[in-house]
Amino acid sequence: MPNKQSAITERTKPFRLVKYFTFTSLVLVFLGTLMLSMFNTHWARALLRQKSEAYSQLLVENLNHQVFIQFILPVAVRYGQIELRREEQAERMDKVVRSTLHSFQVEMVNIYDRAGTIAYSFDAARVGVTDAGGRELAAALAGETTIRLVQQGNWLRIFLGIPEESRLVTFAPLRAERPLSTLSGPVLGAVEITQDISDDYRAIFDFQVSVIYTSTGVMGLLLLILIFIVRRGEHLIEQRNQERLRLKEELSRAAHLASLGEMIAAVSHEIRNPLGIIRSSAELLKKKLAGTPRDTAIADIIVEEATRLNGIITDFLNYARPAAPHLTPCRVETVIEKAIVNLSPEFESRDSVIERRFDPSLPTLQADADMLYQAFLNLLINALQAMPSGGKVEVDVRLENAAVQISIQDQGEGFSEEVMAKIWDPFFTTKERGTGLGLGIVRKVIEAHEGEIHIENSPAGGARALIRLPVKAPEINNPQSAS
Ligand code: ADP
Repeated sequence: MPNKQSAITERTKPFRLVKYFTFTSLVLVFLGTLMLSMFNTHWARALLRQKSEAYSQLLVENLNHQVFIQFILPVAVRYGQIELRREEQAERMDKVVRSTLHSFQVEMVNIYDRAGTIAYSFDAARVGVTDAGGRELAAALAGETTIRLVQQGNWLRIFLGIPEESRLVTFAPLRAERPLSTLSGPVLGAVEITQDISDDYRAIFDFQVSVIYTSTGVMGLLLLILIFIVRRGEHLIEQRNQERLRLKEELSRAAHLASLGEMIAAVSHEIRNPLGIIRSSAELLKKKLAGTPRDTAIADIIVEEATRLNGIITDFLNYARPAAPHLTPCRVETVIEKAIVNLSPEFESRDSVIERRFDPSLPTLQADADMLYQAFLNLLINALQAMPSGGKVEVDVRLENAAVQISIQDQGEGFSEEVMAKIWDPFFTTKERGTGLGLGIVRKVIEAHEGEIHIENSPAGGARALIRLPVKAPEINNPQSAS
């Protein structure tokens, strides 16, 4: 049904907009978090570099001070000249440098003389090497400090902030100290120190990864919750729409049936009078022919069919224009008994029996006995017709949960699924001479008495009708008040 489908899609549209809006916001929040985390990392790296440079500067100044005080001065006094090629001087220098930088993460130290030759190095093989420092060395010898970050790894790793190695290389002048004015004397050479700061970079990257993991996890969870809520919402809306459509269809069907009922009632009413005349005329004809040798068979057929037609028209009228119940004190078992007695010839002729159990404590109800009679009669006739080769009909009436409960059960075939789906449809019948209005009339009668009816296949086989007629409080207290 394309119309039905498009109506549903139309109604779920505003919800869909909300859904897309929410999902988009979630994605934007996620991207925002990622950008924020990248910005933070960038800021953390810049801060790290700044701090490392300041730290390096301090380290170099301290080294300069210690070398001057503990090496240059004593050596100059003792030997008159600094000659690091001499083993005892080299050893002394090594001791001073190592004890100064001990426990700081310094990977390499090179000390250059004024000519730019390496005079001391952590790596003894480099002592004596010239032209190793390049432009930064020249700047240091001219009194200027340079700090450079050296990173190794491919461009992607460097872009992502995870270079394989990160080093800070500082070139600073090595100065003589004047008393009361530190590091302000002439440049004696240059110091190069290399610090490994790879671990700090890695720590920042790890922190960024954990931020991304956490935000991805939180966003994922939010997304799952959102999907769940959206699914539920859609399901509810879909259900409500289906229900609305069903009610609409039911309403239009009810309106259609009501107008059909009105028409049937009007036509039936018009037919009833001439039909009565036909029947009484045929009966009169029958009586007149009775004394003659003429055959009365045709008159019999007219009477019989007119009676049947009258029954059908009565059914139509009962269904289409049910009268309001005229409530008087009424005992249900008496009404049922009357229907059974009136049907007993039919039961006998069909080899069927009826078994009834009436609860002795049944109360008197306020009910329309004629209407109830019609309802029970319809149910008993259906039960009888459901057992073409005979059987037993069980009628059970009891007081239960403030209601008179009536069960009528037969031993017929019961209802197929297909028939069960249609039993309440007016004019639905599987019988050759049925009107399909019997059960509809029963339901209208029971509902007019504020009762309930339920038709089912009995577990013991056959069909079962269960009726519940509510008992008002005074009726329970006064069970024998029947008139
Ligand atoms: P009608 O008796 O005129 O067919 P009803 O409304 O009384 O109209 O019943 C509708 C249909 O329900 C019947 O034609 C029959 O197929 C099915 N039905 C009703 N009562 C029984 C029953 N006791 N056992 C089996 N089928 C039944």
